[in-house]
Amino acid sequence: MAKEILECSFCGRKKPETNLLIAGINSHICDRCIEQAHGIVLEEMKASGIARSSADLVLKKPKEIRAFLDKYVIGQDQTKKVMSVAVYNHYKRLMQQDHGDEVEIEKSNIIMAGQTGTGKTLVAKTIAKMLDVPLAIVDATVLTEAGYVGEDVESILTRLLQAADYDVSKAERGIVFIDEIDKIARKSDNPSITRDVSGEGVQQALLKLLEGTVVNVPPKGGRKHPDQKFVEVNTQDILFIAGGAFDGIERIISKRLNRQAMGYSASKETDKIDESNLLQYVIPKDIKEFGLIPEIIGRLPVLTHMDPLDRNTLRAILTEPKNALIKQYKKLFAMDEIEFSITDDALDFIVDKALEYKLGARGLRSLCEAILTDAMYEIPGSDEKELHIDKHYVEEALTKNLLKRLEIAS
Ligand code: ADP
Repeated sequence: MAKEILECSFCGRKKPETNLLIAGINSHICDRCIEQAHGIVLEEMKASGIARSSADLVLKKPKEIRAFLDKYVIGQDQTKKVMSVAVYNHYKRLMQQDHGDEVEIEKSNIIMAGQTGTGKTLVAKTIAKMLDVPLAIVDATVLTEAGYVGEDVESILTRLLQAADYDVSKAERGIVFIDEIDKIARKSDNPSITRDVSGEGVQQALLKLLEGTVVNVPPKGGRKHPDQKFVEVNTQDILFIAGGAFDGIERIISKRLNRQAMGYSASKETDKIDESNLLQYVIPKDIKEFGLIPEIIGRLPVLTHMDPLDRNTLRAILTEPKNALIKQYKKLFAMDEIEFSITDDALDFIVDKALEYKLGARGLRSLCEAILTDAMYEIPGSDEKELHIDKHYVEEALTKNLLKRLEIAS
């Protein structure tokens, strides 16, 4: 008897005409019908309001949020705590029902002040990952007022839409990370700038977005023009996190602290100021003096700082986070069945060099690449099944590959 050719019980396509045919108890379904059926399910759910609404967000408690952050981010205790609470409150706000008590929970948009490379983007990414919400990372320096060269503020939402695969309701519950917010500070004390195109004007344009408004967003980006189709995005429930290095703000903080110290009795033990990390004392007033307009600061009410990365933190960043660099290299080598190991003093040496050349956490990656590129080139396909890195290996590799260039540069 000729072998029966299986076919899709829904559309009748024969198995060879499909990419995939899945068997059920008494029937089969092909890949195309699965896709179509999935589309119908989504449509139906949307129409009947079953689609995941904000109330379906599984709210993690602040301590659980913190524990998740701990897996990826080393140190930064204050930020982790403040973030956990702000994010918790933000999503509580999304779930708030109108109890007729006229108490409306306001937004918990956040500013993170900290040097570059201390983990600001990482924190934002980790929160978005945990919540499984779309994240757009935008650089405030490219934003300009409408009508000037650069990107309109709405482009932020274009990015968020893209991150949400154009699912508007998903985008409306997403997170926007605005990096380098300090670069749009008022530049009135800079005489070389005649028109403050990227400063206060952009801050004004951002205000509405931060507060919550319906914006016509060009889905493909670019400038708004009359015949382009727009998508309406409501920013009411979008969480905005702004980050910036605020270079020089330490002077403002220090001046304020000194003034305060004179006002009270300065001799108290508790008044001891840690001069090496003044950013930890930052308050909204300092940010205002730095040049952000009060309205912006008001709409980013949660302020936190990032600690500079010290030796211990850098050392931990190499090996501890869930996707720590060393774990990644181990995995890369393991994929070629090569066992990779590295000694503690080799790791210490890498951290020493990162500190010596002020490379920060980002520099750890370039150092590791410089150390391991030769091995990653030579070993796969050879007979070697082990790579053991000690301090001597690191010293040699770095001298050969990177340190010379760094020395020339510094
Ligand atoms: P920022 O946004 O503050 O400039 P990033 O978040 O982009 O810094 O960090 C740069 C890199 O350094 C990231 O790839 C991250 O893996 C690493 N890193 C920085 N700070 C930390 C930290 N506290 N814990 C773990 N990794 C960190």
